[in-house]
Amino acid sequence: MDKIYKQSEIEAKWYKFWEEQGFFKPEVNPDGEPYTIILPPPNANAPLHFGHAMYVIEDILIRYKRMQGYSALWLPGSDHAGFETQYVFEKHLEKQGKSRFDYDRDTLYKLIWDFVQENTGTMENQLRRLGYSVDWSRMKFTLDPDIVKVVYKTFKRLFEDGLIYRSNRLVNYCTFNGTSFSDLEVNYVEKQDKLYFIKYPFADGTGSITIATTRPETLFGDSAVAVNPEDSRYQDIIGQTLILPLTNRHIQIIADLRVEKDFGTGAVKITPAHDPLDYEIGRDNNLEQITVIGFDGKLKEVAQKFAGMYPKQARDAVVEELNQLGLVEKAEDYTHRIGTCYKCGKPIEPLLLEQWFIDVKSLSRKAIKAVKTGEIKIYPKNWETTYFRWLENIKDWNISRQIVWGMQIPAWFCNKCSEWIVTEGEVPEKCPNCQNSSLERDTDVFDTWFSSGQWPYATLQSTKEGDFEKFYPTSVMETMYDILLFWVARMIMLGIYATGKVPFKNIVLHGKVLDPLGQKMSKSKGNVVNSIEIVEQYGADAARMALVYGTAFGHDQALSHPKLQAMRNFTNKLWNIGRFIIEFKPEDSANKFSFHSDDQEIIKKTQELSVKVSTALDQYRFHDAADSLYEFIWHQFADKYLESVKNRRSEAQPTLEYVFKTCLELLHPFMPFITEELWQKLPHQGESIMIAKWPNS
Ligand SMILES: [Zn+2]
Ligand SMILES: [Zn+2]
Repeated sequence: MDKIYKQSEIEAKWYKFWEEQGFFKPEVNPDGEPYTIILPPPNANAPLHFGHAMYVIEDILIRYKRMQGYSALWLPGSDHAGFETQYVFEKHLEKQGKSRFDYDRDTLYKLIWDFVQENTGTMENQLRRLGYSVDWSRMKFTLDPDIVKVVYKTFKRLFEDGLIYRSNRLVNYCTFNGTSFSDLEVNYVEKQDKLYFIKYPFADGTGSITIATTRPETLFGDSAVAVNPEDSRYQDIIGQTLILPLTNRHIQIIADLRVEKDFGTGAVKITPAHDPLDYEIGRDNNLEQITVIGFDGKLKEVAQKFAGMYPKQARDAVVEELNQLGLVEKAEDYTHRIGTCYKCGKPIEPLLLEQWFIDVKSLSRKAIKAVKTGEIKIYPKNWETTYFRWLENIKDWNISRQIVWGMQIPAWFCNKCSEWIVTEGEVPEKCPNCQNSSLERDTDVFDTWFSSGQWPYATLQSTKEGDFEKFYPTSVMETMYDILLFWVARMIMLGIYATGKVPFKNIVLHGKVLDPLGQKMSKSKGNVVNSIEIVEQYGADAARMALVYGTAFGHDQALSHPKLQAMRNFTNKLWNIGRFIIEFKPEDSANKFSFHSDDQEIIKKTQELSVKVSTALDQYRFHDAADSLYEFIWHQFADKYLESVKNRRSEAQPTLEYVFKTCLELLHPFMPFITEELWQKLPHQGESIMIAKWPNS
């Protein structure tokens, strides 16, 4: 044996061997009970960073279950990541002095496709380097035609069931990126603004009421002034008519309980087309929706001489004009939270836009029930609260996105009879209603989460025949806690809807991997750590072990070079223990276990260890399993036992071999490469430690 463990050589050798032997496929245990994990598909737009190395948790579970004899499937894939990818690609174009406006839709789509293919190769290589035992023969991409087909089918079914509707709704719109966002994608930030107190005169000339607003520039879209019906100051004037300043339009004072008495003067302008609360108040009071700001971010014709200005510029101009008319009572400093685009940071404009929405109430009720009844379990359990709170207050889901990169919505509009025709992707020849043959397809694409929300069944329905029947519902959905709502909750809603079954039985949520200083890794900060660099520096086994060891599962952790170093030392320790045992030639080859009390004791402890590790893994306490293995191998076995047998090596050799082989098997899910290399050199049965029998089963 080499004195030094040559990690990169050995890692490459075994990964190739495992893959060639077909060990990553569930067919390696054809008669075993199915055990399935679907890999959360990483975004296809960028190489993986070290946080993605947390996929190791899934590899640990899959390798553990495979050794227990399960027909274990870990299904890999990648996500087209709609807006995210188009954004990254546009940045890429920018560097070449180009923009998306230089291309037509089809060309842009093709360019992004090629860009993504290149990245997918890089990503696959990274997953291999970390030793992940995914079944490459079942790899899927969210834009694979068979996946698209499943997604279209679900959309059509939702449409026919009346759970999808098209509506002019207020959406979170970024006029800079030219798309709308879901509520979850809006970042709320504190902002210093002015609160303006503006007088709206009564139509009968008897004075005025003062309203408070941060957005005077939208007053052209006001359709009422509202007060709280319980506000004693305004009891007598409810129902009176006002003249909207800068226009000659008449609007009324209405009463609505949602108006806060303590805000400003207690009287507010109602602008249904530009504010979420005003939208609701307007809807419930049958008020007109007047759009002031267009999708280009500029004020529209209705704003008269202010038309064409951007809101900020218009605000100052409108206030100045009102001031000259003596209608501004005062302006106060005001700190409030405003919605900003999570991509470009600019303020989100709530705008009215025709969109596809999913009526999620019935879906969310079933998703809540699945967790309440324990059909789906969440680990750590405290995340249940977040899950319930979100689903209980969920709003209808806007699934339209105004971008090119994604699945174009399979809906055609008939200009003649104003009907929408939804198909499973095939182009309709004519309108079934009026026989009109000039139909126009919706140019929007689906929200990425609408397709990835169908991932567990969409993948298994399109891999191999019988896969869906065998592997669905899946066993575990393991991912970072930050996408519990974005993704996991939606998979449950859509999974139950489309298949009648939950998509997975357990949700296991890991924490975030932060940079060595405890900060979030991000491209803009430039502190993203590449997992391949870590693997090259410390070895894949050490990198994997460092992510699990010493951090209570589910908690955030900072990438720690001392810990990685410690785990590399552990790799070297294993190698040295291996050399001590493997290179020894016993005097007699009887190869019988001795009855020495130390030998009996260490065997007993090894059996206890295997129970401990199995129990910890069954309960998703990965750190407990890793910590126990490390402690036992290094301290109980190497420091104590190994030292104590130096004078009776031949007698102890069978015990040494047995205990070490058992430890390697228990450690294999965590550190697959070195355990395979050493196991192969010890007396063993079978082709690989990967498919050896788990010690405690
Ligand atoms: Zn933006
Ligand atoms: Zn028609």
